[in-house]
Amino acid sequence: MKPAVNAAVTTAARSQSSLAQSSSAQSGPAQYCYGLDIGGTKIEIAVFDNQLSLVDSWRTPTPTDNYQAFIATVASLVQQAEQKFGATNAIGIGMPGIIDSQGRVKSANIPCATGQQLAQDLQQALAQPLHIANDCHLFALSEANGGAGDGKMNVYGAIIGTGAAGGFCINGQLAKSRQNIIGEYGHIAASASVINQYQLPINACGCGLQGCYETYIAGPGLAKLYQHFGADKADTKVFVEQLKAGDTIAKQTFDCYMDLLGAAFASLVLSYDPDVIVVGGGLSKITAIIDALPTAIAKHLFAGVEVPPVQAAKFGDSSGVRGAAILGTQLAKNDVNGERL
Ligand SMILES: [Zn+2]
Repeated sequence: MKPAVNAAVTTAARSQSSLAQSSSAQSGPAQYCYGLDIGGTKIEIAVFDNQLSLVDSWRTPTPTDNYQAFIATVASLVQQAEQKFGATNAIGIGMPGIIDSQGRVKSANIPCATGQQLAQDLQQALAQPLHIANDCHLFALSEANGGAGDGKMNVYGAIIGTGAAGGFCINGQLAKSRQNIIGEYGHIAASASVINQYQLPINACGCGLQGCYETYIAGPGLAKLYQHFGADKADTKVFVEQLKAGDTIAKQTFDCYMDLLGAAFASLVLSYDPDVIVVGGGLSKITAIIDALPTAIAKHLFAGVEVPPVQAAKFGDSSGVRGAAILGTQLAKNDVNGERL
């Protein structure tokens, strides 16, 4: 990630000074910032004003098997926004996957981007600076700025949805790290004592390891747990309905699920000591999960360690584009220091 980050920051700094020089000729600093959320099926662009209020957004299908078409599609979305709202130097992009230390993308959902220097190629296509980050990191950034973690120094944003991943912010900025893998808590090995207590199978994980938390606490994992406890079908929708109806199998599944999630989040508390944990993703909409979390986490912490507040995400599904726009804004303002993004 480092070379890409440095390149982006340097270009941003250069652009900043050229903007300052030409600002009297233009109408002053850019009024809008653009955030893009690149997913495996669609790319969304959202336009925000200076107060981070959403002004407009639209989406288009993602070309996943042709890199040139992929670059052209992203560039075209930005150009459409510029035609409508004017040029901006605040552009951020979020996408699933890891951007390695060489600035190359590894993304299972967008195979054509894997191995490519995406940030560099897009900056070249658009002839302006921009920054790319992991979408779960941007969820944390969004919630740390005006969201459920606003005003807190250390914010851990955890997503429980089709996968389990997150991000960590310090003073409203993404924490910088060596390999950019902060937030991959879904691939920590699940608690042996919980697995033993409920006689759970050791699930194979998509990452190549065995028994990762993600295989139990993400949506498909919860569905499998429900079946493990005796449900006919591995279906989270049915599970939620049955839990509300007071069904015994759903209740047993819920208790085991909370034990696993509590253990996973207890390891986050010990590793990051956050001021708040903000939870997003599809499963965070099950209020029983958010309500039961503090007690479930406490069960896995030794005496004297406090459980931080646990909050449901404020921005939900829009956090990707919003976080991307915030990243773009921070970069444009050069509101980044040598130790962070
Ligand atoms: Zn894994």
